[in-house]
Amino acid sequence: MNKLVKSLMNDNLIPLKPYESARRLFSGGQDWLNANESPYASDYQIDSENFNRYPSCQPTAVVESYARYAGVHTDQVLVTRGADEGIELLIRTFCTPGKSNVLICPPTYGMYAISAETCDVGVRQVPLNDDFSLDVDGICAQQDVNLLFICSPNNPTGTRVAAADIERVLSHFADSALVVVDEAYIEFDDGDAWAARLDEFDNLVILRTLSKAFGLAGLRCGFTLASGDIIRSLMKVIAPYPIPEPVAQIAAQALSDEGVTRVNVQVKKLNLLRNTLQEELAQRAGITLVGDITANFVLFHFADCEALMAFLVENGMLIRNQSKQHNLQNCLRATVGNEDQNARLLSLIDQFIEQKGVSA
Ligand SMILES: *Cc1c(COP(=O)(O)O)cnc(C)c1O
Repeated sequence: MNKLVKSLMNDNLIPLKPYESARRLFSGGQDWLNANESPYASDYQIDSENFNRYPSCQPTAVVESYARYAGVHTDQVLVTRGADEGIELLIRTFCTPGKSNVLICPPTYGMYAISAETCDVGVRQVPLNDDFSLDVDGICAQQDVNLLFICSPNNPTGTRVAAADIERVLSHFADSALVVVDEAYIEFDDGDAWAARLDEFDNLVILRTLSKAFGLAGLRCGFTLASGDIIRSLMKVIAPYPIPEPVAQIAAQALSDEGVTRVNVQVKKLNLLRNTLQEELAQRAGITLVGDITANFVLFHFADCEALMAFLVENGMLIRNQSKQHNLQNCLRATVGNEDQNARLLSLIDQFIEQKGVSA
């Protein structure tokens, strides 16, 4: 780093590295099963008539259709540039740099800690128990935290967090912290969504996205659901025109009755494909399924996971190594793809196992 750049840079940023997103890790490849994207793309119409104008800060059609979809009031919805922007806005709005802390429960989604670190906000960790349930006593023993991030279904373990555990955390922190339940994969889970309980808890915040079940990762559109007070506070920090007009138009179409019906069909199909993929993986020598998957990905343990990963990458099959995560040594996560992609993944794993002579 050049001297000027280093001398000017915010001190807390100097040791940080950019997030190794699925897209940054690999540039080649043909089968993208590493970012939990949907294998299904849909057609959308764009009307460019008003592209000379700045877009609405919070496009009404999108806010209204998402409120209807999630069963909340329109003043409880904030549209953001992906759920990732929601995470960052929450930290910038409710944490003071150099002073406040967030709490995360690893193994979990990486962006909570990264966003906190870039904002010079402390990251407290209370790992999940060995069965990936919440360590509620450990969490409630923590003081001086402003935000708690709980991911359910959790990425990358796919486990749903018990509602009773989240209730205890919400009650314990009722007067001291916001509890953020990240429901990026809620469409794949037949459990109850937290949106229905927003009116019960003043400190509940929910994150949602169009990137996973809705098949619109390229759109960058997410939602924060919370009390009107919390949403109005986030509005102080959000950029003046965060949602580009084409994004608003496509999101409104995706959230139409027709769009939602299509997603429901795709989710049913992906859940069946996931069950099949899991059953197939479980039969392979040396593979053990990990977690209790209620999302569009599978997680499995394989002793020689580095070599398997390298072999898959060589063959253009990209999945994600989770070995660096707490309690997930030698675990790989694969997104559920379409029939062809899943079959290719299984056949490459078979080739690898045969070459290496792995025994069960
Ligand atoms: C993918 C993902 C997100 C990010 O969603 P975007 O809307 O694409 O920013 C947030 N949380 C979890 C748990 C995710 O897996």
